[in-house]
Amino acid sequence: MENKYYYIETFGCQMNVHESEKLAGILVKMGYAETKERAQAHVIVFNTCCIRDTAEKKIFGNIGELKILKRQDKSRIIVIVGCMTQQEGMAEVIATKFPFVDIILGTSNIHLLEQKIVELEERRHRKRGKIIDIDTNEKPAVNEDTIPYRTSYPNAWVNIMYGCNNFCSYCIVPFVRGRERSRDPEVILEEVQSLVKAGYKEITLLGQNVDSYGSDRNDGVNFYTLLQKIAKIEGKFRLRFMTSHPKDLSEEVIKLIAETPNFCNNIHLPVQAGSDAILKAMNRHYDRERYFYLIDLIKKYMPNCGITSDIMVGFPGETEEDFLDTLDLVEKVRYHNAFTFIYSPRKGTVAAKMEQIPYAIKSERIGRLIALQNKITLEISQEYVGKVMEVLVEDAPKPNMLCGRTDCGRLVNFAGNKELVGQFVNVRIDKNKASALIGEIVNG
Ligand code: SF4
Repeated sequence: MENKYYYIETFGCQMNVHESEKLAGILVKMGYAETKERAQAHVIVFNTCCIRDTAEKKIFGNIGELKILKRQDKSRIIVIVGCMTQQEGMAEVIATKFPFVDIILGTSNIHLLEQKIVELEERRHRKRGKIIDIDTNEKPAVNEDTIPYRTSYPNAWVNIMYGCNNFCSYCIVPFVRGRERSRDPEVILEEVQSLVKAGYKEITLLGQNVDSYGSDRNDGVNFYTLLQKIAKIEGKFRLRFMTSHPKDLSEEVIKLIAETPNFCNNIHLPVQAGSDAILKAMNRHYDRERYFYLIDLIKKYMPNCGITSDIMVGFPGETEEDFLDTLDLVEKVRYHNAFTFIYSPRKGTVAAKMEQIPYAIKSERIGRLIALQNKITLEISQEYVGKVMEVLVEDAPKPNMLCGRTDCGRLVNFAGNKELVGQFVNVRIDKNKASALIGEIVNG
C-alpha cells in the first residue's frame, strides 16, 4: 500500500504545540506518517493562533499558499484547527476566502479529526465537501481519548487544564478556549508517571493559569495538592509549569518548588505592565505591590531562580509615565528573560474598544524595553561564566554540537556527542552570548 503522509504546521504557544502532538497522534493511528514537506502530504493541518494580529495575518498568507497544492492533488485534505477558527464568524470567513479548505475544527473538537476525515472521504463520493465543526459551548467536556504522538524527547508537555476565566481586557483566549476545565488529578499523575518511566527528563505542566487548577472541581484538589503528588514521583526528572498568574500564585507553591529537588528553579510570572493604572485597565487583579511581594518571596526561597515574564507595551492609555513604571519594574525584578511585545487590539475584547495609541510610540517604547531587558539578561548571564551547571541535553543541532538548558531555564550550547541527548551533564560556562551561554562538558 502506498505511504500516506501528514504535515502539521503549528502557530502560537506551547499549548498549540502540544495540541499538534495530539493531532499527530490521531493521524499516526490512522496510518499516516509525518513529512516535513507540504507537497508530499496527503493531509495538511494548520494549527492556528489568534493572540496577535501579526500571527493572524501570517496564517492567512500561509493558508493562501495551499491553493496550488490543492490544485495539484484534489484528494489532498486541508484542515484548519485552533484558536483562530474559534473566533466569532472566522470559520465562515476561512471557508469563503479559502474554498479549497476541507475541514475546519474548533479548539475543543480536535479529537474529532479522524471522524471528520472519514466523513469527508464518504461525502466526496457524493461530491459534497467541506466540514465545519466549532463547539461554542463555554465549558466543553475535557477529552481524554487522544494520545499525543510526542517527538520532543527528552521534553514532554502535559495539559493540566484548559480555558481561562480571567478575561484580561486585551486577551482573546477566554473567548476561543472557553472557561477553565481542570483534568482529573489522577489522570495527570498517571501521565507524568508514565512519561518519567518512559525516560522523559523534563515535564512541563500546561495551563493558561496553572495556579487556579482545580477551582472548577469539587474534590478539594488545587495546584498545590497536585504538585505535592507529583513531588512524590521517583526518578530524576525536571518539572516546570506555565503559566502562573500573579493574582493566584501562592507562597505554599513557591515553597514547595524550592523544597522539591525535581522542580525547576524557574518561574514564568507574566507581569504585562509595571503601572498600577494600566494593570487595572488590563483587568489583571494585582498591582505592583502584590507583584513585588511575590518576587521577594521567590527570591527568598530560591535566590537563584530564573524568573521570566511577558511584558506588553502600548496598551491603550499607556502614558510615558506608565511606561517608565514598566522599565522601573524590569530594573528592580531583573528578569532572566522576558517575552516583550507590542499590544495589538483583538476584536471582541474590551481593550479593542479603548482609544488606541499611535504605532510609532509603541514601536519606540518596545525598543527601549528590549534594550533594557537584553542588558539585564547579559549581566545575569555573565554571573554564570566560570560556574559549572547541570544541563539537560535536549538536542544536537549540528554534528558534535549539543544544546540544553540549565535548571533555571538558560540555553547552553556546547560540544558533545548526540548520544548524550536526554542525559544530564555538567557544563562549565565559558562564554556569555546574547542568545545562549557557551560551555564545555566537565566531569563530576
Ligand atoms: S490569564 Fe489573562 S492573558 Fe492569560 S489567558 Fe487568561 S485572559 Fe488571557
